[in-house]
Amino acid sequence: MKKYSFYAFLWALVCLAGFYGPQALAKAQEKALPEVYFSKEISPARLKAAYARLDFKPQGKLGVKVHFGEEGNDNYVPPALLRELVTGLKGTFVETNTLYGGSRSDSKTHIATARKHGWGYAPVDILDTDGETAVPYKGKYFNKVYVGKGMAKYGSFLVVSHFKGHGGAGFGGALKNLAMGFGSPAGKKAQHSGQFPTIRYSKCIKCGICIKECPVGAISADYVIDRAKCIGCGKCVESCPYKAIASAPASTKGAAFQEKIAEYAQGVTAGGRFTYINLLMNISAACDCRSGAPAPFMGDVGILASADPVALDQASFDLVNKAAGIPDVFEHETGISGVRALEYAEKIGLGSRKYRLVEIK
Ligand code: SF4
Ligand code: SF4
Repeated sequence: MKKYSFYAFLWALVCLAGFYGPQALAKAQEKALPEVYFSKEISPARLKAAYARLDFKPQGKLGVKVHFGEEGNDNYVPPALLRELVTGLKGTFVETNTLYGGSRSDSKTHIATARKHGWGYAPVDILDTDGETAVPYKGKYFNKVYVGKGMAKYGSFLVVSHFKGHGGAGFGGALKNLAMGFGSPAGKKAQHSGQFPTIRYSKCIKCGICIKECPVGAISADYVIDRAKCIGCGKCVESCPYKAIASAPASTKGAAFQEKIAEYAQGVTAGGRFTYINLLMNISAACDCRSGAPAPFMGDVGILASADPVALDQASFDLVNKAAGIPDVFEHETGISGVRALEYAEKIGLGSRKYRLVEIK
């Protein structure tokens, strides 16, 4: 009898393990996913709370990477939102000069634009003021990445990104802020190379807006894009009110551009201490580098924070689409799907597209 009881007990254990095992495994797997902290409320207090949840321990001088907004852009994140956090951390705002003309193409005017736009409450440092340097990297597209020499002065970086649309990449968040934001002008050029837009003449009404927006004069008076001059910035794509200009299709060069962004993001972060916050507000179809960008096409979504830039951008993308009620609202608004950047970033080991959303209340 005792023998039978023992076997029954064993059998019960096996059944229990079979029943609870997969659940326990699923729970353990979910727990191992990178956390993305989310606050629906957008306020200085919630921003500080999101940062606190990251448990980030800066070492050395802290650089806070933001986008100051091009002259004439109204969508960049409000500097007052970051004030308490950044002054409390004694952070320095860091940026790099743009590849093209405008109000942020050299350090003097770039700093003046930053101050004019309200970022002057903390020091502002343009990282390529003293030139650029090449960092070794091993990828499909690059064997080095170019960054501003000034990056070496910093021990840690807090990357605060405005999550919004982009005419060349579909959307821009942490990955793009890393790649284009830390990439020096030579780095930006390397990422944009091979990215040419085309004008669909059946839709074009010859309004001339794209000619005025092109920062390098690559569009002629008879609406032909000179590939030798074009730097692939995507400003014409964003600016055309009739959606008559398309970037290269996502299956070819558009995908390569997004993969390049992922590689650069990996290259600039290698060996450094980085943490990330995305602000899902003022979500327009165009980048903050565009003067006169269109008004937001939807309401604000919230603040997201994570130590994993891929998980952070994926969660931002998911939440924006959920709020908009369509699977890829950026593709709808810009004609470009930015998903390839996320896929490729995960493939090369920059982070995880799976995440655990933790709401801050
Ligand atoms: S902005 Fe668009 S519609 Fe206007 S000229 Fe350029 S391509 Fe044509
Ligand atoms: S992408 Fe468009 S705006 Fe940018 S340089 Fe080329 S033609 Fe000009």
